[in-house]
Amino acid sequence: MSPPAIDSALLSSPSEPLCRSFNVCVEVANPAEILPVLEAPISSGSDNCNIPKPPPLPGKMCTRAKYLKTPLECSFVPKETKDIWDKLFKEGYGADVCIITEDKSCVVAHSNILSVASPVLGNIVGQSKVKHGMRFIKIPGIPHYAVRLFIRFLYSSCYEEEELKKFVLHLLVLSHSYSVPALKRVCIYLLGQGWLTKENVIDVLQLARNCDAPRLTFICVRMVVKNFKSVSSTEGWKVMKRANPALEQELLESVVEADSRKQERQRKIEEKKVYFQLYEAMEALLHICKDGCRTIGPRDKVLKGSQANCNFPACKGLEALVRHFSNCKTRVPGGCVHCKRMWQLLELHSRMCNEPDSCKVPLCRHFKEKMQQQSKKDETKWKLLVSKVIATKNAVGLFSSRRSGVV
Ligand SMILES: [Zn+2]
Ligand SMILES: [Zn+2]
Ligand SMILES: [Zn+2]
Repeated sequence: MSPPAIDSALLSSPSEPLCRSFNVCVEVANPAEILPVLEAPISSGSDNCNIPKPPPLPGKMCTRAKYLKTPLECSFVPKETKDIWDKLFKEGYGADVCIITEDKSCVVAHSNILSVASPVLGNIVGQSKVKHGMRFIKIPGIPHYAVRLFIRFLYSSCYEEEELKKFVLHLLVLSHSYSVPALKRVCIYLLGQGWLTKENVIDVLQLARNCDAPRLTFICVRMVVKNFKSVSSTEGWKVMKRANPALEQELLESVVEADSRKQERQRKIEEKKVYFQLYEAMEALLHICKDGCRTIGPRDKVLKGSQANCNFPACKGLEALVRHFSNCKTRVPGGCVHCKRMWQLLELHSRMCNEPDSCKVPLCRHFKEKMQQQSKKDETKWKLLVSKVIATKNAVGLFSSRRSGVV
């Protein structure tokens, strides 16, 4: 029989929330038993507000790097042993359980193996009626082929990755419902390996929450936040919005939070840039007033001429500004924007200058005197600016004797 492709109802049913596509009783599993083995301890609260990368999966039997390649590669069971178990399942020799699936067809199995591999399933098998030496149980709402993959995994932990991927959501539900942590781990691993798309992420998110898979929840939320615009226009989002408005609200809050964190980061970067530019302007100002540069400098220095190279990045701009400043007709504070800028740079220099008596920068002493009469508010503002520029200077780590005039 041909197995149904990953069912479209699961991913795009507009009328039903995803969890209802499955009839499996999710409550039978005891999440407390599964979680410590399965997941790093992330509280559901932190799922939504932290966007950094999720913690790596725990690896009990092997090193993390090996574990992350393929979760089951680290098993030390010889291949022959696995093959025997796989054969036992495939051939069904001495089977005493018939698992009836969605399409009324049957997967045969051994009750004692089911009981050992999944106590939950064992319990159901134990309560079923015996008919002609066979027990009959039902796993409804899951495609036949997915049930087969599930039972096969219980026998031998064997699976073909491509097959598993096709039914990964069903198998996640099965592994959670019947308490099979090893399979759940594989499903979560596969889902985290590029299976998620903007189209299915909302469905997977809801499933992850229903199946107590905090790491997967975390990965989904991160994806939603990163791709909010496209995810919020998907069918899955619209369905979720109707069926689970609280989740929508939660996700929107995560997006807003991440946005404001991003803005704050951006603001800090911009701020640093401004302080760095001021620091460079201070260096260049001192350089121009002390040594002189291409076309501008103190009277007693020989200028290098406009073609000369200069190592001060802000020098050229400052040269133009100083030239403007000395020629501008509206040279009053609050006048022309360029002049205003120049006044500010001169004042900033003065506030950072330790040697006003021997300083060559124009108006250095003038500003030192003016500072005495400044209001408290202005004083605080300037002090903050000076401390930030000095911090930038220290961070840049340039301390040369040439700049000894500046703190
Ligand atoms: Zn220069
Ligand atoms: Zn001007
Ligand atoms: Zn000075």
